[in-house]
Amino acid sequence: MKHSLVSGLLVSTLSVCVAAPVPPDDGKLRIICFGAHPDDCEIQAGGVATMWAAKGHHVKLVSVTNGDIGHWREAGGPLARRRKAEAEHADQILGVTCEVLDIHDGELLPTIENRRLITRLIREWKADIVLSPRPNDYHPDHRYTGVLVQDAAYMVTVPFFCPDTPYLKRNPVFLYYPDSFQKPNAFQPDVAVSIDSVIQKKLEALDALESQFYEGGANGSADSIPSEPAKQRERHNQVRGFFEKRYEDQAKRFRSKLVDFYGQDKANAVRYAEAFEICEYGRHPDSVELKKMFPFFGE
Ligand SMILES: [Zn+2]
Repeated sequence: MKHSLVSGLLVSTLSVCVAAPVPPDDGKLRIICFGAHPDDCEIQAGGVATMWAAKGHHVKLVSVTNGDIGHWREAGGPLARRRKAEAEHADQILGVTCEVLDIHDGELLPTIENRRLITRLIREWKADIVLSPRPNDYHPDHRYTGVLVQDAAYMVTVPFFCPDTPYLKRNPVFLYYPDSFQKPNAFQPDVAVSIDSVIQKKLEALDALESQFYEGGANGSADSIPSEPAKQRERHNQVRGFFEKRYEDQAKRFRSKLVDFYGQDKANAVRYAEAFEICEYGRHPDSVELKKMFPFFGE
């Protein structure tokens, strides 16, 4: 993500990686979201993730790197552990499963080993829906997260690729998060969702990622962290305001897509939104399936 007040990168050590339990086959949707850093999934899909979870669907947010260079003051193992704890706290607020992979921030590459890793994660979750960044992005980790998920999009169905992990008989639908990059092609929304009902919860989750937003992440400074309680509250409000505006801007940017799904009157009243583009790879849902995948439009 382009975090302006913020950052999102990092470099050095190890954090602990514990595999999340696989949810039961209960007919609910199974969604896995990939982000490069322990904040990207929450920023891009925290609203829809908590809306899915509230309906009993199974949602997992995966950070592909451990975020260990994403701060101006600290780095390495201690930062990776701190960011893992922050992501777990944020995801607990959202009611979703959290996993942070132990790959150094700023060093992600689209290797065969990582292709296998992402393929196995999608298969283990038995995902119906996979979310990821697009592969054109300013940040190499975002870019290669997009490439790795694209590289897995077909391989998840191939029995003798990673034969240790049962392949998926039905290809998931792959969706991209929005960004503002234009070259070689701009993000084109296929679905837009009102997150008005969960905006406070989403802002609370983002507030829990303190190292990144409150403290300013990789491009912050000591000036970001006031010592007086009144100024600290002001700083928290500044972070909330930044994100409120971001999702307001998305509602404006994707208004015509909101109209497609909610109708003109309801769409005009939407204040905060998230949007997604269907990847050319993976299964292509028709509009009926898309409404089943995002069961929020009649509310
Ligand atoms: Zn990031």
